[in-house]
Amino acid sequence: MQRIYSEQLLTQEYIRLYTHLANLFFEETKVLSGERGDCTIDVNVEEVGMMYVGKGTLETDGQTYTASYEEPIEATWLTPKHQYKRVHSRIVLDLLEQYTGMTQTWGILTGIRPMKLYHRHMQRLNDPLLVRKEMQDHYRIADEKLDLMEHIYRAQLRAIPDLYDLKKEVSLYIGIPFCPTKCAYCTFPAYAIHRKGGRVETFLDALHEEIKAIGAWLKENDVRVTTIYYGGGTPTSIEAEEMDALYETVAASIPSIESVREVTVEAGRPDTITVDKLDVLNRWAIDRISVNPQSYTNETLKAIGRHHTVEETIEKFWLARKHGMNNINMDLIIGLPNEGIEEMAHSLRETEKLQPESVTVHTLSFKRASYMSQNKDKYKVADRATAETMMKMSERWMNRNDYVPYYTYRQKNILGNLENIGYSKVGEESLYNIIIMEEAQTIIGLGSGASSKFVDGTTGRLKQYANPKDPASYAQTYERSIQEKIDWLNRLKEKGNFISE
Ligand code: SF4
Repeated sequence: MQRIYSEQLLTQEYIRLYTHLANLFFEETKVLSGERGDCTIDVNVEEVGMMYVGKGTLETDGQTYTASYEEPIEATWLTPKHQYKRVHSRIVLDLLEQYTGMTQTWGILTGIRPMKLYHRHMQRLNDPLLVRKEMQDHYRIADEKLDLMEHIYRAQLRAIPDLYDLKKEVSLYIGIPFCPTKCAYCTFPAYAIHRKGGRVETFLDALHEEIKAIGAWLKENDVRVTTIYYGGGTPTSIEAEEMDALYETVAASIPSIESVREVTVEAGRPDTITVDKLDVLNRWAIDRISVNPQSYTNETLKAIGRHHTVEETIEKFWLARKHGMNNINMDLIIGLPNEGIEEMAHSLRETEKLQPESVTVHTLSFKRASYMSQNKDKYKVADRATAETMMKMSERWMNRNDYVPYYTYRQKNILGNLENIGYSKVGEESLYNIIIMEEAQTIIGLGSGASSKFVDGTTGRLKQYANPKDPASYAQTYERSIQEKIDWLNRLKEKGNFISE
């Protein structure tokens, strides 16, 4: 644990700010305010004329690092509070970079969604060159990340030209919390499926009711659905007849199913894919699924508890293709246990033979609740430099194979402080992924662990609401979940949301 001291008294907000920035450099950090210690940072930001002028020092092991940064007050669109904080962050970042010798290519950005900032700047400045300059100057973002953001921005608006005008509609996320077994790195609401005690049936009964109730509100208020995403868990881990009944309820409940732009079903675990289930997807004209190899090395799959083989992934991919799945996404993870450059190269070579429509490259993140994080000593993972090399390899491979990046997000405790990037062939992007990442409209979450995000287009504010993760608790409380969501939808409606011109 790295301790960082500040002789000045820091508010909780600034302790959080220091901690987030320091966590870019260290695995775990504790910031102690009002005292000196082995590593003491002091930063001072002042208003001098029309400038914010910041200076700082970091003292450690008898050595002192210094940093300074200033920017004009009038040249910003932020509130004084935010600009002050940003100047402060620049100094802390600079000091930590000098101290550790590491460079942060995302600059002072510590949040999950860097593209949201890029979109806001583009809406304001409407010129990629001006946006680039501002993000370099004020956020210290490196050219390589700015290139990535420019590509993503173009891909997103090509896929959804009305991205900024989607708030009159909603998208639906339907969570099925079951998987054949639980993977070691997983923190999703995923419970090993077994048919004892009617657990699955009870859950599905509640889910049907929730879909009907929310569908009725959407119909009454004439609010259309842009996209539907079945996630989880693995939504194909339930029986084919259960999938069929679910899609039937959705089609009957929501307004104008024919105007939904995209329906996706995660079939991440290849061991759940059968001809019967593919036939059901065909029957409901669903051709966009995910089949997730994560790695093409059997030892790795075993180590992370996926209980399927590489051969099965490939076999199920071709089975899905044969049965009309025209848009298949495949996930790969950089930095799985015992994997290095050789395994990554192998995974890319295998993916090349399949040519799925999209490939999402995740970087392993150590989320506290996962089995892997709680048993970190048992897993040997790549170091930062190797993870970066693997990321670069994947970027070059994507480019050679005509994939373009179309969304990105970052996570806490992600290996090498890298990011996750969704790539696709042009025109095959997942609209849902873009909408959720850029928080472009309200997403209503239905089912266990499903998170709803209510976007108020009139103020830009967001409200999150999560259904209980555990299917039994969900089944007991779904009526309350329905009511709370309807209350939020009504509130948004009263404030002028969901109005079509
Ligand atoms: S398949 Fe996905 S949701 Fe299911 S346990 Fe593995 S990581 Fe979690």
